[in-house]
Amino acid sequence: MLITSFHNLITEMWSPKRHLYIPPPHILYAIRATHPMFRGFQQHDSQEFLRCLMDQLHEEMKTPCPEPLQPQLTYDNESDDEGNSSEGEEYETCDSGVSERSSLSEDTNQLKPMSLSRSPSPEENVKRKPSQGNQTGTPAKSKKTFYQSIISDIFDGNLLSSVQCLTCNRVSTRVETFQDLSLPIPNRDHLNILHQNNVPGPPKCTHLYTREQGWYSWLWDWFCSWFWGPTVSLHDCLSAFFSADELKGDNMYSCDKCNKLRNGIKFSKVLKTPEVLCIHLKRFRHDLVFSSKISSYIKFPLEGLDIKPYIHEDCQGGITKYNLISVICHHGASGSGGHYTCYALNRDTNQWYHYDDSSVTRVSKQTVNSSQAYVLFYLKDPVKSYRWRKRFHHLEQATASEPKTHLISSHWVNKFLTFSEPGPIDNRELVEGPNWVPTDDENSCERISASVWNYLVATFKGGPPVLVESYLSAMNQRLGFTGPTYAVPVSWLNQWEAFKKGLVSEPPGPIDTSTVANSPICELTQTQWDVLVGVYGGGPPVILRDGTNQHTSLEPTYSLERADSGLLMNSDTSSIQPSVNEENTNA
Ligand SMILES: [Zn+2]
Repeated sequence: MLITSFHNLITEMWSPKRHLYIPPPHILYAIRATHPMFRGFQQHDSQEFLRCLMDQLHEEMKTPCPEPLQPQLTYDNESDDEGNSSEGEEYETCDSGVSERSSLSEDTNQLKPMSLSRSPSPEENVKRKPSQGNQTGTPAKSKKTFYQSIISDIFDGNLLSSVQCLTCNRVSTRVETFQDLSLPIPNRDHLNILHQNNVPGPPKCTHLYTREQGWYSWLWDWFCSWFWGPTVSLHDCLSAFFSADELKGDNMYSCDKCNKLRNGIKFSKVLKTPEVLCIHLKRFRHDLVFSSKISSYIKFPLEGLDIKPYIHEDCQGGITKYNLISVICHHGASGSGGHYTCYALNRDTNQWYHYDDSSVTRVSKQTVNSSQAYVLFYLKDPVKSYRWRKRFHHLEQATASEPKTHLISSHWVNKFLTFSEPGPIDNRELVEGPNWVPTDDENSCERISASVWNYLVATFKGGPPVLVESYLSAMNQRLGFTGPTYAVPVSWLNQWEAFKKGLVSEPPGPIDTSTVANSPICELTQTQWDVLVGVYGGGPPVILRDGTNQHTSLEPTYSLERADSGLLMNSDTSSIQPSVNEENTNA
């Protein structure tokens, strides 16, 4: 499993006893097991490897989840469905707005729309199996299972890609998920067009430089333009990607309304910003026999990359600024070989390091800034999140005496505590998850006071509100705990379970309830009690709760998971339900 190797690597990296450097061979072996292309000694593209690594990590960690929340699009025009394309609308999809060939026509013709969701980059997608790009973003008419993992939580963003028919003006749109943006590097002519058209965006990257980079960056710019011609900035590449693309000639668009091939205009905007924005610069062109590399220096900001000009008006979330945390660089003039190194920021110390095989060195910001970037990782600006968390912790302390009446998804709370922008509260997994088993995981939610809930919902929106009381009663109903319940010693249930599993040949004796007052007990429903007593005998019955859900003086330590005569226990004896008695004794 890749995830095990990855876990071990991270543990080792942050261990106080670590060595000067750590080779990660097990990551390679695990990738080779699932992706045969990485066997042997051929050189590979780092971005392609990154995609495989992330896809595989996602596959191994994914869990079913409710359908991803999409913002309500105000933009409606004449499209017949709000933001979601029907299966029939298979127009050319988002890709680098302008590729090296200045039109994406040839590239995307080879693509199946379904394969586009994870990385809108033609070279990689053509090579990838269609089944790998199957996560979200291309809703089909049939009921679909959605998955999430920490990988999709961190790296997934959405693009709203639109095509407008130039004859009838009908606009078709589709939402696509991306985990990186593959940006074209505009050439001199293209740069002129971009700058003339005044494509949105802060085109002059110099404004984004921090003070300390001043004279050095000027000198570097001068040096670069002398050597490579006019300096291309990351914003130029972004502008090229997001600029409108004409669909004409061989690349006309099949309009559903006209029912004909028409000239069209295609453009995309960011509908959901990712927590970590991964940007791939398309330095390489791979033809059948020949690979070439664009070696130009691309100017990029270390702090404050603002993608606001490329954001759709209905984009959820408000943070559009990003700070650089890592850069992958390619060294070598050709596209068929070379050497990769990486710069990464230690955010605790704000110190940059350069990773070159077994050599790890401290470097200055200037060194990072003058590197020939190939893949850039930008983290969403965390400034606001510090304020939110501070307010949250303050409120929690101030309202410590308030009853904790609300439940909130732990998954969302984790995002709130670690992400720069957690997105809207999503409690749906507490009430309607696809594998909704309420006792399955007592860690799936946390209790908070009404004041904290009100603060969070006012700040982040989302929902639905889930009250502890109604959640518990729904849970009890689901589990069959609506009638009276009975106490049974856990020791007896363990014997019974061992017998059921064939671990012992002796059946348990009659149920002995005389010890329930001073030993761990399990709570059984009426049906469960009746079945067990019917088979094994014993007693007397000790009622834990009467029909009105009120507990007697005894408190159950555990409860059986299933209500019916299936009488299956969890592998670890049973689910723990401390919350049930706590709540009800207070009532
Ligand atoms: Zn039309």
